Amino acid sequence: MKNSRNLLTRRGLIKAGGSLAAAAPLLASTGTAHAQQEGIDVIVIGGGFAGCTAARELGNAGLKTVILEARPILGGRTHTGEYNKHPTEFGGTWVHWCQPNVWAEMNRYGLGVKESAGAAPDIAAWMVDGKVRTEASNVYLDIFVGAMQKFCDVDGMGGMTVFPQAHAPFATDTWKQYDNMTCVERIEALDATAEEKSLLNSWVAICCHNDPSTAGFVDMLKWYSLGDFNVGLLWDRCGHYKIEEGTAGLIDRLIADGKPEVKLSTAVKKVVQSADSVEVTVESGEVYRAKRVICTVPMNTLKNVEFSPPLMPAKVTASEQKHTGSGLKFYFTIDKNVGNYLASAPHPFPMSMFWTEYAESDTTTLVAFASPTELDLLDPEVLTPYVQQFIPGAKVIDTAGFPWAEDEYIQGTWCFYRKGQFTNALAALQEAEGLVHFASADSANGWRGFIDGAIERGNHVAHAVISELVKA
Ligand SMILES: Cc1cc2nc3c(=O)[nH]c(=O)nc-3n(C[C@H](O)[C@H](O)[C@H](O)COP(=O)(O)OP(=O)(O)OC[C@H]3O[C@@H](n4cnc5c(N)ncnc54)[C@H](O)[C@@H]3O)c2cc1C
Repeated sequence: MKNSRNLLTRRGLIKAGGSLAAAAPLLASTGTAHAQQEGIDVIVIGGGFAGCTAARELGNAGLKTVILEARPILGGRTHTGEYNKHPTEFGGTWVHWCQPNVWAEMNRYGLGVKESAGAAPDIAAWMVDGKVRTEASNVYLDIFVGAMQKFCDVDGMGGMTVFPQAHAPFATDTWKQYDNMTCVERIEALDATAEEKSLLNSWVAICCHNDPSTAGFVDMLKWYSLGDFNVGLLWDRCGHYKIEEGTAGLIDRLIADGKPEVKLSTAVKKVVQSADSVEVTVESGEVYRAKRVICTVPMNTLKNVEFSPPLMPAKVTASEQKHTGSGLKFYFTIDKNVGNYLASAPHPFPMSMFWTEYAESDTTTLVAFASPTELDLLDPEVLTPYVQQFIPGAKVIDTAGFPWAEDEYIQGTWCFYRKGQFTNALAALQEAEGLVHFASADSANGWRGFIDGAIERGNHVAHAVISELVKA
């Protein structure tokens, strides 16, 4: 208990940080103003997957590249640590071979996958009107799949005309007519049973990681297209397979490959462009100058960096509104072996979904997702009565999680758009402004909000810069 609660502080997170935390000092430069004196081709602001991928490409293209990362560790919204003596992902976790960008990286570096057992549950339990129904998982799946088909069938074609190309959102503008509607508005208008609506509400809550009324309906149609219009496939692609060596293993490979200089605990405060270079001022007052900048800070914190000339208003508005992802992902261990188990409950039940990560002889460790709440769900005594509504008699014996939404430089979890943001934010967040380019999972074309999307943008934007500096 004591150890896992330590994760609530950034210091604790690093202490518990496993291989990447240990590796971080090796990756970081020991020089102070060294890079500034030598002249830099590209400064990458932020060392998550978008930044590390971009830096790998730039380095391999022969460009002198420096990553300036505000936090004392690389990985951004991913972090491989330890809980219950198991390597554990506290942020971004699951990947899939149908996520083309991350899969290509795993293939490149020879990384394999391992499974989260409860993603293929034997038993499912779901709450409708405060009562829990527990059945074999195929009963749950039949109802849920049918509900999702109704939910997304806006066109009599199962939603297929809205995003016919899941990785090219601007290929059509059919989606625009749905961008003024929330998921909850769509659920309320649906000819569906209370049970179906309850399952949809819980699903939307986990997807947007917030109160489902914050979720834009068009983003759910987009996610559905990423699952080839089949929620079973979508589920498998989002929640089943983890990188065997951990997300930290892939971050390590990207850095070792591109060999950028990495400056940790170096928060960027100001970015000033002139005709042929960009000056970047960090919190200590040090100034770095480069030919180009790739800014990968999360959409939710972009507003905290000062840009001159100022950022286009649509970027600032998106950052001020924030995406919806702001709940808690956490692990808890109970004093029972419940096998491969999955639970789902509609908002405002504190956890929208939880399922087995692994079961051991007489305990089970589950991964849970909660919308923002006043409750301290990491306190076993607070959590136990909610778990008992599903698993009678179970006692929570330990918990662990990291409050990403409270981290100054992250301020959220994964990106899910509010109503109107698809129209107003996506293209704007992608747009380069002069010598400053932008790359983030929060503005990906394909798996936006995922590790895959971060890699998509990191690669794409790095090559735009390489074209300008090397191929020009
Ligand atoms: C709890 C949780 C669960 C998730 N689950 C999954 C999952 O299962 N599968 C999946 O694919 N994705 C998942 N995601 C999403 C995925 O982790 C992210 O979409 C992705 O990692 C974001 O990468 P990024 O590089 O775009 O941004 P980030 O990882 O956020 O990187 C941006 C970096 O910029 C830094 N920064 C911010 N401000 C400054 C500044 N002023 N100066 C310098 N640096 C700055 C930040 O510290 C950060 O390191 C999850 C995320 C969370 C939080």
